Amino acid sequence: MSHGSRGARDALGVCLVMCLLLTSVVIAADPDEMVAFNTKTLKFHCLSCQWAVKCTQNCVTIPRSEAIKRGGVPCRVCGGSCKKGTSE
Ligand SMILES: [Zn+2]
Repeated sequence: MSHGSRGARDALGVCLVMCLLLTSVVIAADPDEMVAFNTKTLKFHCLSCQWAVKCTQNCVTIPRSEAIKRGGVPCRVCGGSCKKGTSE
């Protein structure tokens, strides 16, 4: 058995790779995308929604779950998500 700094470094490298892989998997599988939440109207938009683009003063970019937690409702145009609906 060879313990030492080399083993520790290898373990760290493996951990980094694993962490990166896990992170990418989480992002790919996570439905909790970032949305533009309008703190005034309490509507949230897909970030590329035309209304999200226009909303520069009252909107904050937060996770979708956070927007819902704050009492947000999905925009009628984009449905609060970029992932479904029109490809435009
Ligand atoms: Zn919208």
